[in-house]
Amino acid sequence: MPTRAHDSNCHDTASYMFIGVMGLLVFFFGLIRVWSCWVSGYRLRTSTPSHRPLGTLTSFFRRINYRQPVAVLPSVDRLVVLGILGFAAIIFSFAEVEFAKSTWMLFLSIRTGYMSVVAVPTILILVIKFNIIGKITGHSNQQLNYIHRFGGWLVFILASVHSILRIIYLIQIDDFQERLKTSFAIRGGFALWGLLGWICISSEFRHQGYEFFLVQKLLSSFAFLILSIFFHLPKACAAYIFLGLALISTDQLWRRSRMLLKNIPCSRAMIEPFGEATKVTVETSHIDWKAGQHAYILIPELSLFQSHPFTISSRKKLEFMVLSKHGFTRKLLDHAKVSVTCRVLVDGMYGHAPNFKQFGQVMLIAVSTGASYTVPIFEDILQSLSCVRRIHFVWIIKLSESIGWYSETLKNAAYSARKLGVDVKISIYATRERELEKPYYQTILPAKLAKKKPKPHLQGYIFTVNELELSPEEDVAPYIYPSSRNIAFTPPRQPQLGHKSSFETEYFDLYLSRSQTFRSQSIKSNVGDMRNAAKYAITPPKEHAIQERGFRPIKGQSLDIPYKKGRPSIPDLIRDEVSESPYGEIGMCFCGSAALARQVRNTVCTTQKQIFLHVEGFD
Ligand SMILES: Cc1cc2nc3c(=O)[nH]c(=O)nc-3n(C[C@H](O)[C@H](O)[C@H](O)COP(=O)(O)OP(=O)(O)OC[C@H]3O[C@@H](n4cnc5c(N)ncnc54)[C@H](O)[C@@H]3O)c2cc1C
Repeated sequence: MPTRAHDSNCHDTASYMFIGVMGLLVFFFGLIRVWSCWVSGYRLRTSTPSHRPLGTLTSFFRRINYRQPVAVLPSVDRLVVLGILGFAAIIFSFAEVEFAKSTWMLFLSIRTGYMSVVAVPTILILVIKFNIIGKITGHSNQQLNYIHRFGGWLVFILASVHSILRIIYLIQIDDFQERLKTSFAIRGGFALWGLLGWICISSEFRHQGYEFFLVQKLLSSFAFLILSIFFHLPKACAAYIFLGLALISTDQLWRRSRMLLKNIPCSRAMIEPFGEATKVTVETSHIDWKAGQHAYILIPELSLFQSHPFTISSRKKLEFMVLSKHGFTRKLLDHAKVSVTCRVLVDGMYGHAPNFKQFGQVMLIAVSTGASYTVPIFEDILQSLSCVRRIHFVWIIKLSESIGWYSETLKNAAYSARKLGVDVKISIYATRERELEKPYYQTILPAKLAKKKPKPHLQGYIFTVNELELSPEEDVAPYIYPSSRNIAFTPPRQPQLGHKSSFETEYFDLYLSRSQTFRSQSIKSNVGDMRNAAKYAITPPKEHAIQERGFRPIKGQSLDIPYKKGRPSIPDLIRDEVSESPYGEIGMCFCGSAALARQVRNTVCTTQKQIFLHVEGFD
C-alpha cells in the first residue's frame, strides 16, 4: 500500500521532471545559439554570407515559427514554447494519480501545490535583469517576458486547482469549517491565492499605470514569497521560495548599488527637444555598449524613483531618443524646453541584437523611435568591412520633421557605406504628411488660431547654413554666437566644412533664453534670412504662439534626406527587397508596433527566401 513517504517521493519526482522540461528547453535554445554563433563566425571569417548548412530545413522551420496567425496571441515559436510548458504541467500534475481511490483529490491537490511552488524560482529568474537563462539562450529578459507572464498564470492555475480540490476534499470529509478556524495554513493559503490572482490580473493592465504596476508588483511578490514561507508551505517546499526571494533581492540590491556606483559622480546630459521627442545625450566616457542595447535612465530633477528603459540610439555617443507620452517622457520634454542640461543616472546595458554583419543583404525596418534600435545596427554594420553588401534602411515616421532625430547618423552611415562599397538604400515614409498638403496653418493650428494667417516673415526660420558662413569672422556671427545677448548657437555635430551631398540637412537651435527655444530647419542657403531670423528671435512678435505650434515642413519644401509622403505597404516593401537576393540568406530586423510586427512576420513567412528575422518592440 502506498505510504505518505511514497506519495511525497512521487510529488518530488514529478516536480523535478517539470523543472527538467524547463531545463531541456533552455538547453535546446542554448544549442541553437551555439550553432548560430558558429555559422555566423564561419561566415565572417571566410566572407561567405551565402554559407548556410541545413539551409532548407532552417528556412522550413522559420517559415512556420515566425508566423503570427492571431493578433492577440504570440508568434508560433513562442506558442510552441508555451504549449510545451503547459503540456508538461498537465502531464506531471496527473502522473500517477489513481482516480479509483477515494483520496485522489487530496493527491492531485498536493501535486499541483508542489508543481506551483517549484516553478516559482524559474519564473523569477526570467524577470531579473541579468538572468542565466537569458545568458544561455541569448535572449534579453524583455524577450523572455512572455514566458514569465505565462508562467505566472500557470502557477496561478496550478494553485487554484490545488486550493479548489483541497476545499472540496475537506468539505467531503466534513472538516472544512474546523480547519478554517484552526489552521493558519488554510487561511494563509486563501490570502496567497488572492495575492497570486492579483499579481497575474494586474500584469494584464500594466499599461494603464506602469509605475504603479511596477511598485505594487514588487511589493506583492515579496509579500507572496514571505507569506508562503511563514504561513502556508511545508518546510520541504520552502527552499524553492527562499531561492526565489534570494534571486529578486540580489537582483534589486545589485542593480541599485551598481547604478549608484557607476554614476558617481552623477553624469550630466544634454537634453534637446525634437518635436514630440527629446534627445538625451549623456556625457560619459566610462560606459560601453553595443548596438541594440538599452539602459534605464533616472533623472533626479524629474523623479527620484522612476527609471525608464530607452534604447541607445547611436554607436558613438550615449544618446537616447525619447518619444514623449504622458508620464516621465512628457515631463522630460517639458524640462528640455526650459533647460539645456540635467543630471542623469544610467543603469545598464541590457539586451542585445543579433550579429547582422554575417548576412550579405540586410533590411532594417523601424517605426518612429524604433529607429533607436535599427540605426546603431546600421552604424555598426558600416563600421568596418563585413559580409554585408546591401542594406535597405526603412523608417516610418509621422512627420518629416522627425528625420532630424537621426539625420546626422544616417548621413554619416551613408558616407561610410560609400567608402566600404556597400549598396545602401534609405527609404523614409512620413505617414501623416498627406494631411499637410493643405496650407499648414489650416491643418495644424487649432481653429481659433488658424483664423490668424501667419505673416510671411515667420518663415524666416527656414534657412540653410553653409558651415563656411558660420565662422565668427562672418558678419552674421554676432547674431548667432553666445556673445550676442542670450542667443546661443548649437552647431551641427561634426561639421564637415564645405561638404555638399544629398544628405546635407543641418539643424540648429537659437536659444532666446532658457525658457524659449526656436528650432530651425535648413532648406536653402541664405545668410540674409538667417539674420532676420536672429533679429526676430531677439524680439519675438505676438505671433510667436502661432509659429511655435504651426511649424511643420510646408508643401513644396523638401528636406535634403529624401522621404515619401504616406503610409508604405510593408508586405510590398519586403517582397520587393527579397525578390532579388544574390547574397544568400537575408538578415531582417523590425522594431515597431505589435500590429506592424505581425505584418512583417506573416509576410516573411510567405516568401520563399532564406530570411533570418529579428523582431523587437518597446511594449
Ligand atoms: C527595452 C525597451 C526599450 C525602449 N526604448 C525606447 C526608446 O528608445 N525610445 C522611446 O521613446 N521609448 C522606448 N521605450 C519605451 C519607453 O520606455 C516608454 O515609452 C516610457 O517608459 C514611457 O514612460 P512614461 O512615464 O511617459 O509612460 P506613460 O505615458 O505613463 O505610459 C506610456 C506607455 O509606456 C509604458 N511604460 C511606462 N513606463 C514604463 C517602463 N518603466 N518600462 C516599460 N514601459 C513603460 C506603459 O506601459 C505605456 O504603455 C522602450 C521600452 C523598452 C521596454
